[in-house]
Amino acid sequence: MKLNDRGLLVVISGPSGVGKGTVRKALFNMPNHNLVYSVSMTTRKIRPGEVDGRDYYFVSKEEFENRIKEGKFLEYAEFVGNYYGTPLDKVNENLDRGNEVVLEIEVEGAQQVKKKMPNCVSIFLVPPGKQALYDRLRHRGTESEEIIEQRVQKANREFKKAKYYDYIVVNDEVNNAADRIMAIIRAEHAKTERSIHKYMELIGEDEE
Ligand code: 5GP
Repeated sequence: MKLNDRGLLVVISGPSGVGKGTVRKALFNMPNHNLVYSVSMTTRKIRPGEVDGRDYYFVSKEEFENRIKEGKFLEYAEFVGNYYGTPLDKVNENLDRGNEVVLEIEVEGAQQVKKKMPNCVSIFLVPPGKQALYDRLRHRGTESEEIIEQRVQKANREFKKAKYYDYIVVNDEVNNAADRIMAIIRAEHAKTERSIHKYMELIGEDEE
């Protein structure tokens, strides 16, 4: 029996280099869920192995700025010299279908989403230690020293934003982190405040 018509908006955020992408992929590989990933739009260059339309929609700065003017983003942010944003229409479409929509975004964007859609669930993914994160950023190997340094500085500022989130999940091991996130999503979905209206409707009673 399904008690919620509209899906849940799940925001996964955390400092640059914490492994959000890897954890998100592990989450989607788990069985029995109706999670849909919201593919973001960005102006950054495509990296080797990335696919346009799967990892991101890669667009020019001009196109991105036009879409900002047209109000087509749920949120957007500038991150180390590039724009990143969540296309609004797809998010709403999927929530209306009853799917859980997962956003994997940086902290400024996450704060905008929380303001616009306060009943979303926000999860802050953290590394088991700062050094682990610095090592990851350095060993990604696809960026120049200058960009890596900017990402390290950015991560240092982002660490402090944890208090704005509903949940904090440690990424000590990818599958553990994905398990914890799935447990949060399932528990949130069953929360009384999300399902009471539908439940009372089902049993044909008015709420007291
Ligand atoms: P990367 O360039 O490593 O793919 O992403 C850089 C940062 O931008 C990451 O922290 C990633 O989570 C974040 N990001 C990806 N898509 C979006 C988005 O649509 N909006 C916001 N605000 N951040 C995003």
